Amino acid sequence: MKTLLLLVLSMIAAARDATAQDTECVRERAAMIETIKTYARSHASVVGQQGFSERVLEAMGQTKRHLFIPERSCSIAYADRPLPIGLGQTISQPFIVALMTELAEVAPDHVVLEVGTGSGYQAAILARLARKVCTIEIVPQLAETATKTLKDLAYDNVSVRLGDGYAGWPECGPFDAMVVTAALGQVPPPLIEQLKVGGRLVMPVGAEYGTQHLTVVEKVAPDKTTTRAVVPVRFVPFTRSQGR
Ligand code: SAH
Repeated sequence: MKTLLLLVLSMIAAARDATAQDTECVRERAAMIETIKTYARSHASVVGQQGFSERVLEAMGQTKRHLFIPERSCSIAYADRPLPIGLGQTISQPFIVALMTELAEVAPDHVVLEVGTGSGYQAAILARLARKVCTIEIVPQLAETATKTLKDLAYDNVSVRLGDGYAGWPECGPFDAMVVTAALGQVPPPLIEQLKVGGRLVMPVGAEYGTQHLTVVEKVAPDKTTTRAVVPVRFVPFTRSQGR
């Protein structure tokens, strides 16, 4: 009798665990990490022979992507593909988020600028790796939703600002790293100005709806940068505020 009771109790506990795992999308997130790692191995020329760093994989593994998208389904959130976040915008596929984060080489004491907050997902990843993240979004509704999501999830080291990221955010900088998640024909000069010497900026550079390359710009001296195109990508356009 006692054995039966114990069996029933352990079955209930197991069922509760499984439900908790389902709502937390634990399995799907682990599978996403495996997909990213496999992809990195077959794209060694892009990511490097050593693959993604443990820090980046850990940040990706701990960030609940399903809480940043309108449709909170585990299977949709963790598939390696871009997702609509409303208002014609998209959140990049996890591999690209990991790649941009890796290329930005974020360290624990860094101050990081993101342009294109969108859902707040990339900002959340950066917030796990840096001391402070400042992120700018031009669409009011997205800025508002991302601010709320990040606050609800207690990402206390992220500040969201509504505006045109072309001008950067001087009061929040200077920055050790920058991640721009919308495509433009050239890197905005104010961003380079606000980047520290030794810092790097990662951004899709290229024509709107045309060929774009994920590009890494490194500021090697106060007025000298080096630029490296890493991989062809497709991002939503970097829009400009009215009146410019
Ligand atoms: N990083 C986001 C995805 C961004 S999609 C995420 O993790 O969800 C690109 C975002 O850039 C969109 O939300 C778009 O509105 C925003 N954007 C485009 N041009 C901008 C500009 N000039 N300044 C700030 N944000 C801009």
